[in-house]
Amino acid sequence: MCGVFGIYGHEEAAKLTYLGLHALQHRGQESAGIVSSDGRQLKLHRGMGHVIDVFSQRQLDELSGVHCIGHVRYSTSGASALRNAQPIAINYARGSLALAHNGNLTNADELKHDLEELGSIFQSSSDTEVIVHLIAKSRQARVVDRVADALSHVKGAYSLVCLTEDTLIAVRDPLGIRPLCLGRLGDSWVVASEPSSFELIDARFVRDIEPGEMVIIDGRGVTSARPFPESNRRTCIFEFVYFARPDSTLDGVNVYEARKNLGRALAGQHPVDADVVIPVPDSGLPATIGYAEKSGIPFEMGLVRSHYVGRTFIEPEQSIRHFGVKLKLSPVADTLRGKRVVVVDDSIVRGTTSRKIVKMLRDAGAAEVHMRIASPPTQWPCYYGVDTPTRAELIAATHSVEEINQYITSDTLAYLSIDHLVEAVLEARKSHEKVLWDEARRSSSPPPPSNGHVLSAASVPTLSVPTLGGEAPTSGPSSVRKLPIHGQPLNPTAFCHACWSGDYPIAFTPSRTKEQLRFLHL
Ligand code: SF4
Repeated sequence: MCGVFGIYGHEEAAKLTYLGLHALQHRGQESAGIVSSDGRQLKLHRGMGHVIDVFSQRQLDELSGVHCIGHVRYSTSGASALRNAQPIAINYARGSLALAHNGNLTNADELKHDLEELGSIFQSSSDTEVIVHLIAKSRQARVVDRVADALSHVKGAYSLVCLTEDTLIAVRDPLGIRPLCLGRLGDSWVVASEPSSFELIDARFVRDIEPGEMVIIDGRGVTSARPFPESNRRTCIFEFVYFARPDSTLDGVNVYEARKNLGRALAGQHPVDADVVIPVPDSGLPATIGYAEKSGIPFEMGLVRSHYVGRTFIEPEQSIRHFGVKLKLSPVADTLRGKRVVVVDDSIVRGTTSRKIVKMLRDAGAAEVHMRIASPPTQWPCYYGVDTPTRAELIAATHSVEEINQYITSDTLAYLSIDHLVEAVLEARKSHEKVLWDEARRSSSPPPPSNGHVLSAASVPTLSVPTLGGEAPTSGPSSVRKLPIHGQPLNPTAFCHACWSGDYPIAFTPSRTKEQLRFLHL
C-alpha cells in the first residue's frame, strides 16, 4: 500500500507536499520521495524511512518550483530498497517525467519481459517502472496521450500522479481499486490518495477522481478525460476496514462511520454476554464504539497502544512483526480483572498477533475473552497493492473458525459476513449524503450531487484524449468523454472483496518464481 500526493502552482509546493505525505504516512513507512518542477526541470529527493526522517529543511529548500508530486511507499512489488523508492523520475527524448504510483500491476512481469526483449534496461524491481518505460516508448505526441497509451497496456490497480515540467496528471484505474481525490488550495490544485491530507494543509476537498478518469492540470487549468473503456467499479473495501484514515471520506463513504457500522453489524450478527467491550487499538477502535453502542456493553480501553511503533501489519520483516505486539500494546489490568471481555479487531491474518493479545488479556486477569472480527476470514492474498501474505500463511485459508478460535485460545471467535460488511459501508455512504444534504439545507446552498461531490461540470472542462478501444463515447465530440460529476453509483457489486471471497476482479496467476522469492525473503 502506498500514498501519493501532488500539488500544482504553489510557491511552497515542496513543503506542502511534505505535509501532505506526512498525513499519508499510514499508507507506507518504508520510503518517501518528492519531485518538484520549476517549469524547466525536475528535481528529486528520495530516501528510506518516514517522511520526517527523509527530508530536512535544506532538502525541501532545494526542491524548488511550484509543482510537486510525492510518494510514501510500502513495498508490495519489488524489495524494500532505495532503488524502488518513488517517485521515479526520468529524462527521455521528449523531456522529463516523474511518476508516483499506488497499487499493483498484475501483468508487470510480462510487460517487463517484453520491454527488456526490445532493449529496455530497468533500474528497479518495482512494477511502476514498467509504466515509465511504456510512457517513454509511446508514439503519441502529447504527454497526456502517452500516459493514456501506456496505461492501456497495463492491468491491475493504479492510482497515480505524474509530473512533467509544466503538467500534473492524476489517473485512477478503470476499476477504481485504490482511492484518489482532487482538492483546491487557493488558486492551486492538489491531488492525494486520501482527503485527510488536504485537511492538514487547509486545502478544500473538491471530489473523488472517478474510476478510469484522468485529471490533467496545466497552465490552462484543470481538465478531465476518460481515455479507457468503461468498467464496473470494484473499489477495495479493505480501505474502509483497515487502511484508510478514519477521518477520510472516500467515494462518498466516511471511513469512521463505515467502521462504526461494521461494529454495529458485528454486535447484531454475533452478540455475546459480556461486561466490557474493548478495541485492539487503533484500527479496531471505531468498530468497537459501534459494537458497544449496538450491544449496550460498556466500552473500555482495555489495551493501550504505544504510538512510537509502526503498525505491525505494515512492517515487512517477520522478526519485527513478532517483536512488535508487546512493544505496541499493554493491558489495563484494573479494567480487565475478573471481567468477561469482548475484544474487537479489524482482521486476523496469521493468527499469531491475536493469540498474543488473548494471552495478554488473560494474564491481566480477564475471566473470559470473546474475539470479534469486523471483517470476514481473510483467505486470499491481495494482488492489487496490499501486502497480505501468501495463501499458505493466512490462517483462515486452511483452518475453520473454530480451529482458529482454539489456536488463538479465545473463548469464542466470530467474524462479520461479507454481506454485512458491504451493507455497513453502503449505509455509511447514505449517512454521509444525508450530512451533506442537511448542511446544504442549513446554508441554503444548492444540494450536492448524489455522490456528495461539490464540483460543477463547468469548473472542470473535458479534454480531448483518444478513447483507447471499447465503446465510443455517447455524447460530445467523438474523442471526448463527459465529466461524470455524479460518479458511478456505489452498490453491492461495486467493491473488491477478493481477500475474503476469492472473487478477483482481475484474473491473476502469481509466478512460481515470485512465490519462491517470497518464501526466501521470509
Ligand atoms: S483483494 Fe482485498 S485488499 Fe486487495 S483490493 Fe481486493 S479487497 Fe482490497
